[in-house]
Amino acid sequence: MNKKQLTIALAGNPNSGKTTTFNVLTGTRQKVGNWPGVTVEKKEGRIGKDGYDLRIVDLPGTYSLTPFSIEEIVARDFLLDERPDVVIDIIDASNLERSLYLATQMRELDCKVLFALNMADVAQARGIKIDAQKLSALLNVPVVFTVGNKQKGLDELLAQAIALARDDDAGVVHRKVQYSKDIEAAIGELQAQVENDLDAWLPYGSRWTAIKLLENDDILKTRITDGVGAQGQAVLASAEKLRQHLTTRFDDDPEIVMTDERYGFITGIIKEVPIITSQQRVDFSRSIDLVLTNRFIGFPIFIFFIWAMFQLTFTLGDYPMQWLESGISGIHGLLARLLPESLLKDLLLNGVLAGVGSVIVFLPNILILFFCIALFEDTGYMSRAAFLMDRIMHLIGLHGKSFIPMLMGFGCNVPAIMATRTLESEKDRLLTILITPFMSCSAKLPVYLVLAGTFFAARAGTVIFAVYVTGIILSVVTGRLFRSTLLKGMDAPFVMELPPYRVPMLKSLLIHMWDRSKLFPRKMGGIILVGSVIVWALSAFPRDVAFSRDFQADIDRVSKAYQLKIDAAAAIDREQFQADRDRAVRQLERARNAEQVAGSYMGQLGRLFAPVFEPLGIDWRGGVALISGFVAKEIVVSTLAVLYAVDRASGGDALARALKTAGMEPLAALSMMVFVLLYLPCLATVAAIRRETGSTGWMVFGIAYNTSVAWGLAFVVYQGGKLLGY
Ligand code: GDP
Ligand code: MG
Repeated sequence: MNKKQLTIALAGNPNSGKTTTFNVLTGTRQKVGNWPGVTVEKKEGRIGKDGYDLRIVDLPGTYSLTPFSIEEIVARDFLLDERPDVVIDIIDASNLERSLYLATQMRELDCKVLFALNMADVAQARGIKIDAQKLSALLNVPVVFTVGNKQKGLDELLAQAIALARDDDAGVVHRKVQYSKDIEAAIGELQAQVENDLDAWLPYGSRWTAIKLLENDDILKTRITDGVGAQGQAVLASAEKLRQHLTTRFDDDPEIVMTDERYGFITGIIKEVPIITSQQRVDFSRSIDLVLTNRFIGFPIFIFFIWAMFQLTFTLGDYPMQWLESGISGIHGLLARLLPESLLKDLLLNGVLAGVGSVIVFLPNILILFFCIALFEDTGYMSRAAFLMDRIMHLIGLHGKSFIPMLMGFGCNVPAIMATRTLESEKDRLLTILITPFMSCSAKLPVYLVLAGTFFAARAGTVIFAVYVTGIILSVVTGRLFRSTLLKGMDAPFVMELPPYRVPMLKSLLIHMWDRSKLFPRKMGGIILVGSVIVWALSAFPRDVAFSRDFQADIDRVSKAYQLKIDAAAAIDREQFQADRDRAVRQLERARNAEQVAGSYMGQLGRLFAPVFEPLGIDWRGGVALISGFVAKEIVVSTLAVLYAVDRASGGDALARALKTAGMEPLAALSMMVFVLLYLPCLATVAAIRRETGSTGWMVFGIAYNTSVAWGLAFVVYQGGKLLGY
């Protein structure tokens, strides 16, 4: 046999240091996925220790196991169904009392629990001394002090976990919550019946089952009905009767009484375990909060941070972006020279490299953006930002927390939609996912720059700003609309937690940054690659387009004519002639390319859809560009360049001249910008919506809604503008 396997689950309150501990324990041997059926992230890692093969699972952070939020349900189901050998409860030692509720609930579940009193350094700095031995004895739980971010105590923690798993534990009576007499009597009665009627099936402890039934736990009730049918009904009926009995006795729901009694139990423990807090401790967090969450200056400071973040993202990110761009065009040039003229070359250069290249260049910006966001999160500032935005977000019917994904949407919608995972309520999450695409992502900017730069030269900045604001206004309108129709109802009550400020750890910043960014090169590279190849194929086929003239013959003729001149010219003139020749040949090639695309499936598609775009003032070429923009918004610009046969080598404003020559009006440019801002999100975003909502229906709805709004508003802009005489 191989090594013995043990499953160790890390549980604990949010911000107690679970992920930090998990990262230190497992290093790079991690597997990140989702819990089945829900959008909560699941992290797993495997390590070897003392001859054991340890599977370590990072459970979602929760304050309790009461199945209200998805996180709580996921954590509880894992403990119930997978029965990990040991559960390590990561406890914020500077906040012991708050952590104990979860701990007592795990105790009731008959899990083998081990306490990691983490943040031992913070506790010490605050003068909090916990008598670990007493705590351990009171709850009959091994206790280890740890400092997750300094990697202290973690070896000891694992050793204790293994020892606990090996310990057969027979006969040891765990100290559990003792409820008051009436409740204990009801538990006893129900427990007996549970053992009697459900025994053949029951996968859970009988006491726990009885307690949960008295608390009217819907999930458990459904499981019993599904699991044993009629026999279960008898148990459920008795439970209901006992609940009635307790309700009249206490004049309150049993679950409320039992929760109170659990807290009473915890208060008792806290009294027993001497916790000495030195008197005059300085609370840094509170002093900082006096400034940062101040009613008057908090907001300007926040705006400044956001501004600085974007500034950093775009200015600092510009350098590596340029290196990447020149790297890619270098590769492009090299391949263009080396490869023989063929369809494969066309595919490589104009399909793969053009498509993937146009997205890869955004990687530095994305990395910087997510580094800043990790910095906000790890220092604790993000919670303050959510706190500040809370009142404004309520206008849309959302909490301040939804602001974070929306903010990230200005960078890229994909990670923004993934960031909605932090939201507790399913409806909030859905609503946030649906309005995030209105945040104009950085990939749309090149399109605005080209169109606004060309047609509104002096006022380009203002026009682009107005486009961004339009997106924000529409997200507010959409939010209100959906909140009062599709996603009506109460959102889960939610306490805005303000965790203490912390000095972030570089390693954890980098891990957080990479966690979010890695999707980009990996998955999105795949989607973009496939999409670009499809766009390319649609524009490269059919090959037998009837050209208006024989381009190859013209190219040959021009080359030959120049060759004669070059041969005859003096050495100094040669270079000039060569350059002239190259330019003339390029122009012919572009014209051929444009005719090729016009005759291709893409061109046919464009003309098929032309009636759709005509009322918006957009010609078939614009239409094709917009359709291909589904792959990635940057592609709108490159498609326009292909269709208008732009000479890239002749300078930056070549596309501008081409658009003007082709007779595009400013009003049409404006309508196109509005359309680009609002219409269906890019392929990667659509995939993210599908994954995060877990529903094709919502994905289709999002696409349809966005595109109709885009068309409607672009129509209003164009036709309205015409009426007003622009
Ligand atoms: P989780 O929500 O439980 O996963 O918490 P994290 O692992 O993300 O930790 C929250 C923050 O606490 C991070 O900034 C960590 O660097 C920090 N942290 C974790 N463990 C310790 C510790 O023992 N001492 C101190 N001072 N900070 C810690
Ligand atoms: Mg975590």
